[in-house]
Amino acid sequence: MDTIPEYTINKLNSLSCEEVAEKLGMDVIRHRSLCFMHDDHHPSLYFSGNNREKWWCFVCNKGGRAIDMVMEYTGIGFVESCQWLGVQFNIDVGFDKTSKKEWKPLNIKKKIFPHEEKPFSRDISQWILDNNSLTEKGCQFLFGERKLLPQVIEELHIVSIEDSRTLVDRLSKTFELENLVHSGLITMTNNKMYFRMFTPCLLFPYYDKSGVLIGLQSRYLGCNKEAPRFQFVSSQKTRVFNMPIFNSMRSGDELYISEGITDCLALLSAGKKAVALPSATILPVYDLMELSRFELHMYPDQDDAGKKLIGL
Ligand SMILES: [Zn+2]
Repeated sequence: MDTIPEYTINKLNSLSCEEVAEKLGMDVIRHRSLCFMHDDHHPSLYFSGNNREKWWCFVCNKGGRAIDMVMEYTGIGFVESCQWLGVQFNIDVGFDKTSKKEWKPLNIKKKIFPHEEKPFSRDISQWILDNNSLTEKGCQFLFGERKLLPQVIEELHIVSIEDSRTLVDRLSKTFELENLVHSGLITMTNNKMYFRMFTPCLLFPYYDKSGVLIGLQSRYLGCNKEAPRFQFVSSQKTRVFNMPIFNSMRSGDELYISEGITDCLALLSAGKKAVALPSATILPVYDLMELSRFELHMYPDQDDAGKKLIGL
């Protein structure tokens, strides 16, 4: 067999990439997945389209459709990828009868990607927090829409970014290009630097128990429907949001756990002790042990990850 007809290619490329990802052995949760092309600790790979026929990693700036996914994931060729999809989804990719009988399903494996270890760039993240404040849009969202307490927002050092171009220009005057590119906060496309978070956005800093900055999470405030609502610095590990609160608590105290940061902020504004778990399933054990000292309440409800945590 030589070429695969175009209508077959179109058919394969209209397959749900979520189903393809699952057949490849990836875990898909709420239209997202850990990226298989970089050392991902937060699901950066998104599935979109009516049939989820498209995928895209916001860190790698790379994506495509079903065939691209199989090729990228396994490193096998175009024709083989089509054949594999054909077998998986029972689509005739146009073998002649004889070769079809002889053809054995490919035993596919994940391609090994060389991961560059990029430590979290505390200095650059700290500079961004120190040199930005809350913009009008940020205030509107936090205080106008969500009615959060200004004191809570201030204590957590939350800032917002309106214009990423200005931010990138200022960063490039302050830090070495190489450090910026390795920070996980900047991406380079065609020799131009871009802030990796979609703007306008809020930035929520993560601190460990002793107040050391360990991560940044953004919350998009614009109206681009394709933009992810939340993004993390790619190099940071998943940790609990608002860990310094543990210092003001005693064992057995009530602690509210929300999945979303804005819910956490609402609980704090209501005078509760609260932390947020951006994705409970991939949290380090030492963070879970820290949590197990308290009387935990899930907010607003519990999903599977939350239930598992409570059962610890
Ligand atoms: Zn990626």
